[in-house]
Amino acid sequence: MAAEIMSSIVFTGPLAWTADAACQGRTELFFAPAGERPEARVVRESKARGVCTECAAMAPCRDWARENREYGFWGGESEEERAAAGYRVDMPVGRVARYPKGDGSPVAPRTPRVA
Ligand code: SF4
Repeated sequence: MAAEIMSSIVFTGPLAWTADAACQGRTELFFAPAGERPEARVVRESKARGVCTECAAMAPCRDWARENREYGFWGGESEEERAAAGYRVDMPVGRVARYPKGDGSPVAPRTPRVA
C-alpha cells in the first residue's frame, strides 16, 4: 500500500511521463559510479541509449533533462550531448563537458532563476 501511495506521488504533475519510463529499476545504467573510467562510461551509456531508444517517454524525458540541467543519461542523451545542444549542467566534469563544441569556448552558464 505504501508503495502505491509513493508511486502516485512520484508519477504526477510535470513528471507524469515517468510512469512510462523504460529505465525503472535500471539506475546503474543512467548515472556514473564514482571514479568511472571513460571506457566504462562508453559501454554504460551505450546500454542506456539502447533502453531509451525503446522508451515511450523519450521526448518529455529529454525536454525535462535539458530544462532542468540534469546530470546523467536522460532521454537518449549524455551530459556531453545535452551540453553540445546548449544545456550544460551547472558543474560539468571534464574537458568535453566544459567545451562540448571543441572550439575552445565554454558553453554559457544558464540564466539564474528565482524560485
Ligand atoms: S528516455 Fe531513457 S532515461 Fe528517459 S525515461 Fe525513457 S528510458 Fe528513462
